[in-house]
Amino acid sequence: MSQVQRVALVTGAARGIGRAIAVALAKPGLTIYINDVANWDEAAYTCSLVEANGAQAHLLPFDVTHSPSVEQAFAQIADDPGRLDILVNNAGITRDNLIARMKEEQWEQVLAVNLKGAFNCIRAAVRLMLKQRYGRIINISSVVAVMGNAGQVNYAASKAGLIGLTKSVARELASRHITVNAVAPGFITTEMTENLPEKTKAELLAQIPLHRFGTPEEVAQAVAFLASDHAAYITGQVLHVNGGMLMP
Ligand code: NAD
Repeated sequence: MSQVQRVALVTGAARGIGRAIAVALAKPGLTIYINDVANWDEAAYTCSLVEANGAQAHLLPFDVTHSPSVEQAFAQIADDPGRLDILVNNAGITRDNLIARMKEEQWEQVLAVNLKGAFNCIRAAVRLMLKQRYGRIINISSVVAVMGNAGQVNYAASKAGLIGLTKSVARELASRHITVNAVAPGFITTEMTENLPEKTKAELLAQIPLHRFGTPEEVAQAVAFLASDHAAYITGQVLHVNGGMLMP
């Protein structure tokens, strides 16, 4: 495979963990599609960082929840360059509320992006990967999928759903040399978490043996490992990157 130009797609890669993943994957010989649904200046900056690492970068805007847009984007990849080696389902949102106050819309939005979005992309990507008999799929879950978290029933359910999806797809595709794994970050410093109240941050830190939040780069390195040939014998697993907050 070393002579073949490889192709990757990272969803929600304009900023945060998705950007760090794209940068960690980037190397000469790799073409990376940077997907997002917003944050265009930031997405353009991600592309420039990827190119600085010697990879080719292309912006591929679409909403992961909207099946026709997903199908259209993957049809574009199928047309040219005609292959997809690595898919990272990173796009995710939070709409936190306590269960008694949670609006149906908050539940549906979070499930749509975090879970159905991954389903949409995997289903489209698999058609290309089956033909190649090669692929790496990595889904970004969360520590709260396993621990639970008050105020995040929608988010935790979506991220736990991703783990079941990961294991099932891994079983379906293993015979075709397609591995499917999840990375479950703990609390990572990004725009998603920076607005947490100081009291909540202090309570969280007290639960983390390494006594700090993680960085997007630390999550990205775990993803890059699972996407590499060094991880060829790993499938259906959840790799926890959480400073020891959870030891399952
Ligand atoms: P972020 O909000 O900084 O970035 C998420 C990106 O996804 C944004 O650029 C956003 O525009 C994009 N996105 C949202 N909806 C989309 C859609 N429908 N289609 C395409 N793109 C869409 O968040 P982050 O902290 O970098 O989180 C990245 C992933 O990591 C998410 O799945 C999140 O749940 C997960 N995660 C984050 C943490 C953390 O502490 N930050 C912890 C565990 C898991």
